[in-house]
Amino acid sequence: MTVRLAAIPGDGVGPEVVAATLPVLTAALDSQGEALEVTELDWGADRFVREGAAMPADAAETVRRHDAVLFGAVGRPDVPDHELVWGLIIGLRQQLDLAVNVRPVRAFEGVPSRVRDVEGVDLVIVRENTEGEYVGAGGLAHAGTGHDLGIEVAVHSRRVIERAAEHAFTLAEQRRGRLALVTKSNAMRHGYPLWDAVVREVGERHPDVELEVVLVDAMAARLVQSPHSLDVLLAGNLFGDILSDLAAVLAGGMGMAPSANVLPGGSVPGVYEPVHGSAPDIAGKGIANPTACLLSGAMLLDDLGRSAAAESVRTALAAVLRLPHHHTPDLGGTASTSQLAAAVLHEMESR
Ligand code: ATP
Ligand code: MG
Repeated sequence: MTVRLAAIPGDGVGPEVVAATLPVLTAALDSQGEALEVTELDWGADRFVREGAAMPADAAETVRRHDAVLFGAVGRPDVPDHELVWGLIIGLRQQLDLAVNVRPVRAFEGVPSRVRDVEGVDLVIVRENTEGEYVGAGGLAHAGTGHDLGIEVAVHSRRVIERAAEHAFTLAEQRRGRLALVTKSNAMRHGYPLWDAVVREVGERHPDVELEVVLVDAMAARLVQSPHSLDVLLAGNLFGDILSDLAAVLAGGMGMAPSANVLPGGSVPGVYEPVHGSAPDIAGKGIANPTACLLSGAMLLDDLGRSAAAESVRTALAAVLRLPHHHTPDLGGTASTSQLAAAVLHEMESR
């Protein structure tokens, strides 16, 4: 069988980490007697500058002709962020209704972290991707009067909470059976109490999962103090955004954090991407850490039912990361993007 992949390398370090990842995915599938067919799409900042849009109007249709999307990053200092972020990645998430953002955090042996005693940390943040504080509702009143009033309205709907919760409970069942809902229902009176109630209801359909309800402030402390006590975290859009950058630090930083944008039920192709952006400060130098993108690729293989191929990527990566001479500069090493990726390929071939 052939996996049909749409690759959107994008801008900055995006093309560098995607180029490092594609041969690894090809090798992983090849070892299982399968092939990878890649359609490369030139969506991103250059296209925006050339044609006035980061992606074509029929982007969603193009994506739907594939099994999954591997996305690098978008962003270029001379193009307004919203043209690219809204014009591409958020646009795709909305057009495909990719409701849930899955962000695993795993501390690999040998990878330095600013946080002590992280060995063995293995948790997943499930972030609701479409609502909450990021819907853009509200407005600016009395602008320029000296009494300016910025009103940001958060929207939380039962349907959206339910589908995120269902996904998180299912994931917890496949893992260590623990789910922590991140909330702030002690201070916010409408949205988060609804989250608490709906998630408890969904939990009744998953009796094997132990549910904990944790306030977001306490969760921030706990992620640093006792991350081993966490398995799956379920969070709304804002809290999930903030906590996943915090959690990425446990694993060694932005270069280590993969993610998946999926619609539970799987009727549309998922978009898999490193959590980091285009990293203009290191772009073009060939030193970006490809781990986040490689791990996103492994998630992609997992979700397409290619778990053996996915596991071969992760196992090889874990073996390579144990050795500091394979580390890129963000991990304190001197290896290049392509050296790290080549080491992973070599490791896969020697198994
Ligand atoms: P964007 O506007 O595209 O989000 P950004 O600079 O705001 O870009 P990131 O790209 O996420 O945000 O970068 C944040 C920091 O993390 C930068 O210092 C960057 O160099 C570093 N970083 C991000 N990705 C990587 C990577 N793959 N390897 C090494 N360092 C990285
Ligand atoms: Mg950024």
